Amino acid sequence: MIISTDTKELQIQLINKDIPNVLNSLGLMGKIKYGYIKGKNNYICVEKLEQYKHEYTSKKPTKKEILGILLLEQIVKEGKHGDIEEISPSILNEFNVIGDHIKHVSCDPNLCRPKKCNKECLYKNRVEELKEEDITVINHSLLAKWPYKEEKPLENIIVDEGHNLAEKGYDFFSSTIEYKALKYFLKEIYPYEYIGNSPFIYEKYKTSRKIKYFDKFYHHVHFGRDIKEKISRNINLILEELNSVLRFGIESDYNYLSKYNLRWEFNLQQSEVLGNVKKEDEYIELTYLSYSNKIRDSFDKILRNLIAILVIIDRNIDDDSIDKESDIYKFGKARIKELEDIRTTFELFMEFTEEDDFARIIEIDKNYTNFEAKVVPLKLAKLFEENILSQVESGIFISATLSVENNMNYFKNTLGINRVENIEKVIEPLYNYKNKVLTLGLSDLSNYNNKNFTTDISNTIYKICEVTHGHLLSLFNSTDRLDKTYEDLTHILNGKNIDIYKNKKGIRNLKNMNQNCVVLGSKGCFEGVDVPGDGLVCVTLDKIPNLNPKDPLYSTIMKKYGLTYQSINYPQMAIKVKQAMGRILRSKYDYGCFIIFDIGTNGHTLKKLERDLHGCKINIVSKNNIQNYTNNHLNICRKQVMREVLVDVRNLLTITDIDDIKDIEQFVVEQMNQRYIKCRVTSNNHDKLNIKYFNHRYTIPKEKIKLKSKV
Ligand code: SF4
Repeated sequence: MIISTDTKELQIQLINKDIPNVLNSLGLMGKIKYGYIKGKNNYICVEKLEQYKHEYTSKKPTKKEILGILLLEQIVKEGKHGDIEEISPSILNEFNVIGDHIKHVSCDPNLCRPKKCNKECLYKNRVEELKEEDITVINHSLLAKWPYKEEKPLENIIVDEGHNLAEKGYDFFSSTIEYKALKYFLKEIYPYEYIGNSPFIYEKYKTSRKIKYFDKFYHHVHFGRDIKEKISRNINLILEELNSVLRFGIESDYNYLSKYNLRWEFNLQQSEVLGNVKKEDEYIELTYLSYSNKIRDSFDKILRNLIAILVIIDRNIDDDSIDKESDIYKFGKARIKELEDIRTTFELFMEFTEEDDFARIIEIDKNYTNFEAKVVPLKLAKLFEENILSQVESGIFISATLSVENNMNYFKNTLGINRVENIEKVIEPLYNYKNKVLTLGLSDLSNYNNKNFTTDISNTIYKICEVTHGHLLSLFNSTDRLDKTYEDLTHILNGKNIDIYKNKKGIRNLKNMNQNCVVLGSKGCFEGVDVPGDGLVCVTLDKIPNLNPKDPLYSTIMKKYGLTYQSINYPQMAIKVKQAMGRILRSKYDYGCFIIFDIGTNGHTLKKLERDLHGCKINIVSKNNIQNYTNNHLNICRKQVMREVLVDVRNLLTITDIDDIKDIEQFVVEQMNQRYIKCRVTSNNHDKLNIKYFNHRYTIPKEKIKLKSKV
């Protein structure tokens, strides 16, 4: 069986926690073999490490550089699987040079052939183990490619966090050309002898350029200076064109408008206006057209030069005297294959018909230091069916957000699951959302594109914090808004005994019951945040996460297939809001407020959304009333939570032989801590427990441990 989950962190959580729990409860621990595997580039390659170390000796390495290499050697000899993440973060911090080493020694997916490799390699052993393993845990991006078909065919799969496959599926099957990566690749294959001819890549490093592995390949296949000169000339021309794409942005009117990255569908959005520029006292509209034309012209030249390089290599490589079984030959051939793939992506990018099923997306960094050209296949269902569904005997897709508007059509249609025999099963929510989550939308905050919006958000978060004392997660659809709010809120909270953190690393502080803190998070915090009990009592969302109608991918889908904005937008928006709200209820004792700062103006959509939020009504309130609403809801929930937790603790107590009141006190304190319930438990006299839980006080006679509220 293969279990696929969304991220590497979730893979580890399944291996360390969830699978052992299930196996233990089924009495199967020790009888079922399980493990995880990641993509090849997550492992250290022994062969590359040996070669790297050998080449390193010719330089003058520092102590830290040497220690870094020794540490990597230790991992490939004594580590578990030779996984890069076996290096602890503290060591990575201490020896930041290791990061550089890793770039050179991580396994190359194009070169590594574990079956043919004769090295003693932990990764190779791990691949062998797959055959014998009962459960293998992988991540979604690996599932989309599944490179270990021979060792472990995709037969029975469980896909955890299945909704992410629909969202990220387009990325998994896309082909991308990135300026910096392509430049790096060309540098690797640039013939050593002609460094001096290349003003683009080596001007800074002329003196330190050493012979690359690909130079050895040129030598191995007997390429003379004339052939290498031609190749270097073609590479230089490609570089010139690549650089000119960015230079064009800097030297043209686009430079005045690029507050954000430029991003558009190369053919279908080229006539769209991205802004106005002032010319001789007149404002004129600027479209993407001239940038598209420039790129078309440059890519055309790049493609011609790529083809020229491949033709030169092809014509000259077929020499019978070449040893084609040697490692260096295989290395060179793998690089040439990469070059062919790059050419294919350029070709696909440049081909275009109204009817084809691709989006061609250009993204140019706002500082004009990088760009990306992406070919995105739009028939995701077909690809998913061909690559995954057609190979499996059974597949189970699970997630808390597969169903939208009471059905799973969006999920099933996107991934082609509707094309195969399937059964839908909805598991009713374990928790009572309507009682435990109060959902609020604010009626009088400025609109999200108003410049005061983040100041308004900051002031409102502070008001909420006066009630909750932190323990608040604030989610943002835009990192720009997150950063501005962080800045404002840092000033507001200064000296108020509430700490503020940005992004996922701050989450662990929410679990500290003795610390009051607010965490601001973006995309990565909509999922995988699991803070139980009183650790998290309020989640806010900056705005309803609607898709931008001009988003290059989705606007292409709408145009090509005649779909409405609403039909594309609603399912994704509802899933995101559900995920955000879902951060509050993670366990039986959880409760809290879910607050949306800008709820938009579409009442019909909000009504629909309420049904998708487990029937929770979205109460529209004024910012002046936010404290009352929050306070009331938390008070009501806390009474209920304490009632529930006391019943559970009492049930546990009855099956122990604890009798002394001090021991009972200790037991209750431990149980409360385990459940992240922020209360004070004392037993000043000999027959009663006193519990203070926020502004609720309880006195419980020892023999009963029964709830008696004195609120
Ligand atoms: S199997 Fe060989 S090529 Fe692959 S990672 Fe191990 S040592 Fe490197």
